[in-house]
Amino acid sequence: MASAAIAQEVMLEIRNPRTGQPDRTLAVSSRAEVAEKAAQLRSAQPAWEALGVGGRCAVMARWLGAVKTRAQDIGEADAVDTGGCHTSYLQGFITCGNIGGWLEDAPKAFEALKWQGMSTSMPTVAIESQVVAYPLVGVISPWNAPLMLALLDAVPALFAGSAVLLKPSEVTPRVIDTLFETVREVPELAAVFDYVTGPGEVGQAVIAEADTICFTGSVPTGRKVAVACAERLIPCNLELGGKDPCVVTETADLERAATAVLRGAVYATGQVCYSVERVYVHESVHDAFVEKLVEKAKAVRLNADNPRAGHIGPFTFAPQAEIVRRHIEDARAKGAKVLTGGEIEDIGGGLYLRPTVLTGVTHDMLIMQDETFGPCIPVMAYKDTEEAIRLANDTQFGLTASVIAGDVEEAKAIGRRINAGGIFLQDTFLTFAKLGTFGSDSFGWSGYGAPRIGPESLRRFLRRKSLLTQTGPVADIQNDHHLGATA
Ligand code: NDP
Repeated sequence: MASAAIAQEVMLEIRNPRTGQPDRTLAVSSRAEVAEKAAQLRSAQPAWEALGVGGRCAVMARWLGAVKTRAQDIGEADAVDTGGCHTSYLQGFITCGNIGGWLEDAPKAFEALKWQGMSTSMPTVAIESQVVAYPLVGVISPWNAPLMLALLDAVPALFAGSAVLLKPSEVTPRVIDTLFETVREVPELAAVFDYVTGPGEVGQAVIAEADTICFTGSVPTGRKVAVACAERLIPCNLELGGKDPCVVTETADLERAATAVLRGAVYATGQVCYSVERVYVHESVHDAFVEKLVEKAKAVRLNADNPRAGHIGPFTFAPQAEIVRRHIEDARAKGAKVLTGGEIEDIGGGLYLRPTVLTGVTHDMLIMQDETFGPCIPVMAYKDTEEAIRLANDTQFGLTASVIAGDVEEAKAIGRRINAGGIFLQDTFLTFAKLGTFGSDSFGWSGYGAPRIGPESLRRFLRRKSLLTQTGPVADIQNDHHLGATA
């Protein structure tokens, strides 16, 4: 539970991922501040919900305008937070896409939730549905893609009619400050959307105030969040880690497969929940695939000189570099060969790792079992399809998986048997294709709760009520046929 010991005026020093030096401070929200903000949001929420989805869309369209004018600044702030990679600079524009998508999807999603008709089990009873938003949604988000992962939940919650209290990661606070400058330009929105800052205890304080929680982060923290929500009997939606496999069959176009695997594994320094974390290649093409992969991996450039140039940036969170180093050392000690990269490099205080291709890996190595969250590509040979599927499913996780084969049908036949929520065929990294379409669930430790992407994800913030009208005579206790009993 939240500790009353969260002191007022506590300041944290925030490390810059490119220099390794603190370059700003962050005030830790006290328990009283969290409670006060939650109360203010709660008092404004009924008016927000009463606007209806059309009224909320009008307000959100104005916010979209404010974000568009600051999109560049938002991207710059995200790049400082994360250390800078291509996608960071795009975050302002990605936010516009997120809000714009919900401007189209939210009215349709509300329409789809409407139901009106006669009961089939009690034919004289008319039923009408009503949806009611959870008043206060707590969003707790991680340091990788700090803006995108906060807004994937916060934006639909606002469209649903909820107020939102966000607790971003203390590691990456800058972009959220910039975002909220745009929120304050739209007073109706600022009344129902606010944030608090600080470490995990502040997350617990948010859980103590909210009516439902959306959490994105690691499995151990997700478990603590689930326990705290269970104690309060409030729902929680957990988006957790992954150990996502990619299967490359003997009929695959190896050039295509190596290109897709490399991008899927090292994009954003591998600090992506649905990164490719393990690769299984048919033994007949293993060596040829590895040769292509190594050649491509060696061509990847760090962006140490210029955050806008190069392909991969520093680790955003220094302790993550240590986890990755430990995984590589464990693999080496157990007999793996490191063909590229393999050493954490300190360049001007930033911690970098070049794409690290490993062979000779086995499932008793950390790098094949635990989430690595770095630009590592362990490659293992398999003998037949059954073995590939068994290895892909030999995990506690089940976020996404990829299959690259000679043709789509072959890839689909394998993909259908892998236990994960998103299966990418003939490519990797297709998660965001689900936007505006439909979401999928996570398997195993990778998540819990309803899908977070796609129009149906709005449902996480809405409770459905039924208004049941008796249109016939009322039941008579002495002659009760209303339940249709024929006895
Ligand atoms: P953490 O679990 O460490 O932290 C996530 C958030 O929870 C942060 O805001 C953190 O605060 C907060 N927090 C920490 N302790 C508690 C607590 N006891 N109660 C409530 N909140 C708490 O994750 P990371 O930030 O390290 O993010 C990386 C992880 O996120 C990876 O495992 C990755 O796979 C996963 N992830 C999953 C995604 C998905 O969609 N499935 C997407 C992206 C990432 P603070 O940071 O300030 O300590």
